[in-house]
Amino acid sequence: RWAVLVTTAALMTATAGCGSEETAVSAPERGIVGLAMPTKASERWIADGENMVKQFELLGYRTDMQYADDDVDVQVSQIDDMITAKVSALVVGAIDGTALKSVLAKAAGADIPVIAYDRLIRDSGDVDYYATFDNYKVGVEQATSIVDALKLKNNDKSYNLELFAGSPDDNNATFFFNGAMSVLTPYIKKGRLDVRSGETKFAEVATMRWDGAVAQKRMARILKQGHQVDAVLSPYDGITRGILTAFGTKKLPVITGQDAELDSVKLIASGKQTETVYKDTRELAKVAVQMTDAVLSDEEPMINDTEQYNNGVKTVPTFLLQPVNVDKSNYKRVLIDGGYYTAAQIGA
Ligand code: BGC
Repeated sequence: RWAVLVTTAALMTATAGCGSEETAVSAPERGIVGLAMPTKASERWIADGENMVKQFELLGYRTDMQYADDDVDVQVSQIDDMITAKVSALVVGAIDGTALKSVLAKAAGADIPVIAYDRLIRDSGDVDYYATFDNYKVGVEQATSIVDALKLKNNDKSYNLELFAGSPDDNNATFFFNGAMSVLTPYIKKGRLDVRSGETKFAEVATMRWDGAVAQKRMARILKQGHQVDAVLSPYDGITRGILTAFGTKKLPVITGQDAELDSVKLIASGKQTETVYKDTRELAKVAVQMTDAVLSDEEPMINDTEQYNNGVKTVPTFLLQPVNVDKSNYKRVLIDGGYYTAAQIGA
């Protein structure tokens, strides 16, 4: 108990800023935590992983972190190997949230607790806790920024909008989309926003594996129809960059994103991207690490949602962090003053 209190304090000091590692109190060896992460193709997952490793080590854990290159079979076999190596706990950022049922049954058989990281693991009773951001709110933020940028509340014009959603195998993608549509649908119904492609259902607008190139192709196909597209709902910065590429020299739309990736923050600074939803991966890592540590210390992890995340088998106790809308007006304050990027990195 004492060790946990001391090390939690050390964790708080260490996450408060850089160079504070020296202040950490060394804790006894506490086992290996397996970190199964989806891909290095997007910056956020690299940052998530690095932040967790750092914070687990401060608490005296060792880590085995594996990235699966967005390949579901690879992720399953990485988790399988971690179970064979007798990790104390698993933290999983799933690629396909529905593909881990059997490997997690094996983890449960070996008494290994499982924390779902950012993405809910579906169809399995063997998920103990879930750490994420308020995913529905992410979509609400994105759509609200479209409504604000087009000044839909202050004029009576109509605009052409196109919709993109994330990967159909990622539970978050429908949350983002439903959150966004809760704001956009009334405008679409009134004819203030016109989806000229006619593609408005999640299945029609989803982007497999969040792939920017797939989104670019779809956008190019729609632009060939010839009408101007004034706004685009895009769920993720990498998809946004693909969509913007499809516009080429055409007038760029009002367009959203997510994750505050460095290249996209530069696009926001230069006025090419309207907004992104910032999710501080340092905070998410902290929550997941504390959850894991609590479970392994026979304590109750902190949760703040017991209703929203039913995975088909159980409602997984969840800790939800708050996403932050970032645009040209606040990116310096939020991202630079907040220590996520330096001004030099953004070139601002
Ligand atoms: C995450 C988003 C991310 C997306 C693509 C989602 O599960 O919540 O932050 O943009 O995956 O990596």
